Amino acid sequence: MKKLFALVMALVFVAVVAAGCSGEPEPSSVIDMTEPTPTPGVAETTPEPSMPELPTADGSPMVAAGDWHLVALCADGTVLAAGDNSLGQCDVDEWKDIVAIGAAGKTTAALSKDGKVLLTGELAEGAWADAANWTGIVNMLVEKTTLAGLKDDGTIVTVGDETPLTQESFETAAADGVENSNFSATINADGTITTEGRYEDLGWLVKNWNLQAGTLSAGRPEAADPNAEKMEKAQKTNSDVIGYIRINNTMIDFPVLWDDWSDGTWFYNDHDINKQKTGNPGAGSVYALTSNKKLKINTITGHNMRVSATMMHDLHHVQEFNTGFTKCQGKDCGTTLPTTLPKLTEYGDRVWNITAYGYTRWEVFAMYEVKKDEPDDTIYYNTNLVGSSDGKEDQWINYQLSRSEIDLGITPTTDDTFLVIYTCGTEYDSSTAQSRLYYFLRAVE
Ligand SMILES: [Zn+2]
Repeated sequence: MKKLFALVMALVFVAVVAAGCSGEPEPSSVIDMTEPTPTPGVAETTPEPSMPELPTADGSPMVAAGDWHLVALCADGTVLAAGDNSLGQCDVDEWKDIVAIGAAGKTTAALSKDGKVLLTGELAEGAWADAANWTGIVNMLVEKTTLAGLKDDGTIVTVGDETPLTQESFETAAADGVENSNFSATINADGTITTEGRYEDLGWLVKNWNLQAGTLSAGRPEAADPNAEKMEKAQKTNSDVIGYIRINNTMIDFPVLWDDWSDGTWFYNDHDINKQKTGNPGAGSVYALTSNKKLKINTITGHNMRVSATMMHDLHHVQEFNTGFTKCQGKDCGTTLPTTLPKLTEYGDRVWNITAYGYTRWEVFAMYEVKKDEPDDTIYYNTNLVGSSDGKEDQWINYQLSRSEIDLGITPTTDDTFLVIYTCGTEYDSSTAQSRLYYFLRAVE
């Protein structure tokens, strides 16, 4: 509008100057005060009504939340994602020139500067796939099962559920905070992110993010390890500390000591971190058994302290809670199980903070308890890789899945790195009894 006004004024000025320079000079006493004749084609033309401005995505930093993953748009047009990546919903490292993002369930969407929608995760190959063919998109909106695009001509295209949307719906698309049933995340003024909620580890995963700094030049920020400080402290006490295990909402929060069987016994079975004997049977320590780092199955174990309900006893509570019990089945414990115990069907609860073997997060994919008459072979099979053949690795994975007391819908591959955590079973009867509770995990980060 300003430009049109300036053009009219310029033409008016030319007309006035031209009038003063042409024809007979007017008598000086007579000053023509009449309005200049409007220039045809300019002032007589009514300006076209301008289109209402579209709520176009502007590329400002924003966050979006799937069920168990967080996505963030950086000021430099790159995207960060953290959390559940089981279906590739966090594979956003290659995305550039992004102006808007969205997420739902196990899917992530982004809108690029050139008007294209990018997708990754569960719905990318399914219900939302058509969106990848859209063109001329100036804003994007993700609402549960709906993905919508606002086109440069003001029309709206959608895939998924046909939730009725208007242009105004897109005005609220940019979000400096998100909340779902598992967590909330807010962008701070300095570009960092604060998270809250049940997904406790999310805050550590995004601790080094800065949406103002972006990632194009800085590189993807490393996830922070919540165990790092405790592990360092423990290592000062005992250099045998090689790891740390912490399971949210349980009492399991221990350094992991290396046990090399050098004296023909498991030293840390009955010695604490100060190498003091803890009695027989004592609490001992939580310790690692596997010595060959080429092996892809690593093991951590610790006592099931039935009476005091300490050390690794909470592994039983997690098992019982996830198989429908409300009280501990151990006759010496019998405690009422807190409902805050990890729900293994939920990603954020079955990924445990275990700092060991080069990883910091491991996901439970199978769990079962064996009784006292279990064959001796089971423990050796479960805690050792049976050779290097792929066929045997597959067998091992399938065997653990087939025995699991809970179906988590996860199928690890032979490319995974594994961790077996076990403790004694509920019905321990003698030193030769094979009753044990096993958890099988794969490294995720
Ligand atoms: Zn108990």
